[in-house]
Amino acid sequence: MNQPPPRSAQPPGFFRQGILFVLSAPSGAGKSTLRENLRPKGDFVYSVSCTTRAPRPGEVDGEDYRFLTADDFGTRLAHGQFLEHAQVHGHFYGTLRESVLERLRAGVDVLLDIDVKGAETVRGSNDPIIREALADVFIVPPSLAELRRRLQKRGTETDEQINRRLQDAASEMERWREYRYTIISGTMEEDLQKFRAIMKAERYLSRRLTPNPPDSTH
Ligand code: 5GP
Repeated sequence: MNQPPPRSAQPPGFFRQGILFVLSAPSGAGKSTLRENLRPKGDFVYSVSCTTRAPRPGEVDGEDYRFLTADDFGTRLAHGQFLEHAQVHGHFYGTLRESVLERLRAGVDVLLDIDVKGAETVRGSNDPIIREALADVFIVPPSLAELRRRLQKRGTETDEQINRRLQDAASEMERWREYRYTIISGTMEEDLQKFRAIMKAERYLSRRLTPNPPDSTH
């Protein structure tokens, strides 16, 4: 992950394990723009997913995704390297388990941008660190018509791909209730503020805090 080290969000006198922010939204709901706008604050690490889909113009391997061949993806899957994986719009996507766990243990917050099936897998994880860390958020786009407009404006998909993504969006949108938080998408600024409010509240949860021992130098 080619990102600057995140600023510590540790409260003085306490340790808290990292929070695993899971963000899902139908394609075109403004999720990647939200993600980009969240990044500059540098108080979390974005987990770069693996995918078998081809890079879009401008996408950088290792920053946007790790672009893998189907064989490589299959090998990693067979070795149990994925915390979750799913087939989305005809391609495979997956989150590498160890890089997420390592950061959570170190007290660093991690953001996953994954689909509804992947989020379901994470929610069902038996790993106590993951279970403790999870805070999942769904972004509901204003309407399917607005979603179509945004996808067309983005211009990175063919009409056929847009139709497929809209079909998937309709079924994904029904699953908002499974998430702890729901943001009804408005302007980018509004979405950003709402997501920031969720991050703040999650960081203040008492149950996440462990007092440092009195002689601790932290
Ligand atoms: P895109 O191809 O537009 O970048 O992403 C398509 C969808 O795949 C998005 O909904 C995105 O959240 C989802 N996605 C990206 N990475 C992962 C991943 O690692 N796991 C899962 N389950 N979904 C992912």
